Amino acid sequence: MRPIQMVDTKNQYLKIKTEVDAAIHEVLDSAAYINGKAVQDFTLALNNYQGSKHTIPCANGTDALQIAMMALGLQPGDEVITPSFTYIATTEVVALLKLKPVFVEVDPVTFCIDPAAVRKAITSKTKAVVPVHLYGHAAPMEEIMQIAEEFGLYVIEDNAQAIGCDYTFSNGTRKKTGSIGHIGCTSFYPSKNLGAFGDGGAIFTNDDVLADKMKMIANHGQSKRYYHDLVGCNSRLDSIQAAVLNVKLKQLDQYIAARQKAAAFYNNAFANFPQITTPAIASYSTHVFHQYTLVLNGVNRDGLNAYLAEKKIPSMIYYPVPGHKQQMFAAFALEAYHLTVTDWLTERVISLPMHTELDEEQLQFITSETLNYIHSV
Ligand SMILES: *Cc1c(COP(=O)(O)O)cnc(C)c1O
Repeated sequence: MRPIQMVDTKNQYLKIKTEVDAAIHEVLDSAAYINGKAVQDFTLALNNYQGSKHTIPCANGTDALQIAMMALGLQPGDEVITPSFTYIATTEVVALLKLKPVFVEVDPVTFCIDPAAVRKAITSKTKAVVPVHLYGHAAPMEEIMQIAEEFGLYVIEDNAQAIGCDYTFSNGTRKKTGSIGHIGCTSFYPSKNLGAFGDGGAIFTNDDVLADKMKMIANHGQSKRYYHDLVGCNSRLDSIQAAVLNVKLKQLDQYIAARQKAAAFYNNAFANFPQITTPAIASYSTHVFHQYTLVLNGVNRDGLNAYLAEKKIPSMIYYPVPGHKQQMFAAFALEAYHLTVTDWLTERVISLPMHTELDEEQLQFITSETLNYIHSV
């Protein structure tokens, strides 16, 4: 059996090596390392894939979120509602910009932000909501957009884990996650579903004014060369990364199908065990399985993690500490939070290897060893 990895970017690369290497060499020959043709081509292709009006490439997913929030003209102390159960980048940029993160609960079944909790957390200072499409499953965007409209809030989607996910509205309209809110943000970190060979990110919007502003912010607030109208930053996707992403974008739907196939194998193997809850898929969402995450019921999670490690099967806890328990947010009256669903999930989730290169032999081994542990305790 081939060694099992949490994410197997090496074997994925080997299958497209000729095309990727040629694309990289084309950039090397052009010497247009920044803003070259590859960046323009990729931006256009991604914009078509998303069905978005504007796509703005940038240096990474965290910058994408930061640039999005900078563009909204928020004032220090303005409140931004985010789930507590997410990767730190979602909330870190809120605090970095001197805004106040307000942590809310997630749904225990989909792991995504709970609209009822969002509604309850709204105050006169609330300006924005950041739903996260966690693990590759869409947050309930229709309800979030309704709440946002009712209270005049901006919605920034954190789509770093869900590129390619489809959302179906109650009237049957389908959209890609990341193209539903006022702004969508994504990451091309190597292990993401559309991963570069380094850092990268992108911002989506259908709003012309916000698009212009975000383009400027990502480029030192520059309107024309050496004229800087806004305080911005320097956040660029480089041409080599864009060249790699251009090749991989063409494979994205196949990559998603491979992840879904692995998830189906897992689901099937774990179907009849009350100790294991497999990932649910809401009727409005597809699942692109950035992670395959189980909720354990009455099983020693750290024991399973250690047992699998002994068998050379990697597994991960995403995430062991929720936002409302992070030291970096100590200034935000964290002791007042009682997020019981989030705390409950934090203690019970475990993610198994999930990538495009898992074969049946590996999946069989992972599932049988997981069940071995569950039966042994
Ligand atoms: C990866 C990730 C980010 C940050 O992306 P980077 O490119 O690593 O900066 C933000 N939010 C979520 C949910 C992520 O998974």
